[in-house]
Amino acid sequence: MKRMISLAGIVGMLLCGVVTAAEDRPLAIAIHGGAGTIEKSKMTAEREKAYRAKLEEALAKGYAILEAGGTSLAAVTTAINVLEDSPLFNAGRGAVYTYDGTHELDASIMDGRTRQAGAVAGVSRIANPIDLAQMVMEKSPFVMLAGEGAEEFARAQGMAMVENSVFDTEHRRRQLDEAKQKLDRKGGDQASVNALPVPYRMGTVGAVALDREGNIAAGTSTGGMTAKRYGRIGDSPVIGAGTFADNDSCAVSATGHGEYFIRFSVAADICARVQYQGKTVREAAETVINDVLKPVGGTGGVIVLDAQGNVALVFNTAGMYRGSRTSSQPASVAIFGE
Ligand code: ASP
Repeated sequence: MKRMISLAGIVGMLLCGVVTAAEDRPLAIAIHGGAGTIEKSKMTAEREKAYRAKLEEALAKGYAILEAGGTSLAAVTTAINVLEDSPLFNAGRGAVYTYDGTHELDASIMDGRTRQAGAVAGVSRIANPIDLAQMVMEKSPFVMLAGEGAEEFARAQGMAMVENSVFDTEHRRRQLDEAKQKLDRKGGDQASVNALPVPYRMGTVGAVALDREGNIAAGTSTGGMTAKRYGRIGDSPVIGAGTFADNDSCAVSATGHGEYFIRFSVAADICARVQYQGKTVREAAETVINDVLKPVGGTGGVIVLDAQGNVALVFNTAGMYRGSRTSSQPASVAIFGE
């Protein structure tokens, strides 16, 4: 009997220890809603308030998942869904227009625990592309599906299709008209879309999170760049460029001029520096964004976190819609540069 009690006591003590330890483990989430020429002088108080409120909502809903013991993947998709459903951001509802006046969306997600990943590129009938990216990761043997093939897969999985016009918004249409005028003045070459000012390629959304199990994840969703050529794919659905997650290094979601982020493998490079050079997430992100990308003309930013809950929000543009919350730091959102 005595022996049984002491065993039960030991088991109880151990269980308590485990429970307490789980509660003590850090939680973290960071989000972004695009980087670019975001200047206070050019934004109305009302618009700023609307952006802040949406970022706060995404952060709160994502963090609530983590607090309830949910996975970092679920926190990432929940936060991204909030931003995709808002016309303020260039993802889902507020997606920019292609040169031809349609919308083509890209998204990707990565699980830092397993390094499983899923991505969709150039989809035009999916309301929440991040959900389809997750479906590709979890329900197919592939990492990336594009265009009609991705939509066929979505349909087969029972996902609802929407009309492409669901993504139409007044302000994005105006941006397309302006962009086309600028391009026409430059000779009308769609390829010179790269020469467009940064505001025409802004508003991508992303999230990174750390859950109670110590697993990290990253996701990114975008409408791409205004007036992009039919079929152009940016960095957002490219694992290692716009999105990356590995528990042993870090989770990254990027926003910016996609061609540069692909060419410089931005997300994977940041995590490689953390893993092999022992850099902090901030050091690694600052090096890649400011010392590697900036000198070659690559504009944009990243949100990064590691499995210890360290978070860095780094950009080389005037501003980046962003926010973070961790178990040791209250929620904070910001838009402009420091
Ligand atoms: N990176 C996105 C793309 O190139 C655009 C953005 O982040 O604003 O498609």
